[in-house]
Amino acid sequence: MTRELTCIVCPKGCPLRVELENGEIREITGYTCPRGRQYAHDECTHPMRTVTSTVRAKDGRVVPVKTNRTIPKERMFDLMKEINAATVALPAHIGDVVIADVLGLGADVVVTANME
Ligand code: SF4
Repeated sequence: MTRELTCIVCPKGCPLRVELENGEIREITGYTCPRGRQYAHDECTHPMRTVTSTVRAKDGRVVPVKTNRTIPKERMFDLMKEINAATVALPAHIGDVVIADVLGLGADVVVTANME
């Protein structure tokens, strides 16, 4: 089986090709740097994602947030439940932690814009 991927690690977007046999990676081609090879490997074994979303402020406005590290793709639904249940106090500043170590995954949900 062959999986065709587009590397999302940097804007260059190299086309990646992963040859799989019985769920095992046989060959990865198309990358132009080691990060792309690692991305293709991870995507086929344990896909990870940075999640961007918004959290409601106590006055009703929404504050943009993201995870400061990637999390396992299969936990994104659980993460969104945590984010949807959270509120943030204003003012909020870039990097403020809204949820520390969310779901015990080692990633924090942090603010990505300054809001007064
Ligand atoms: S393989 Fe390397 S250069 Fe190509 S998109 Fe991925 S990170 Fe960028």
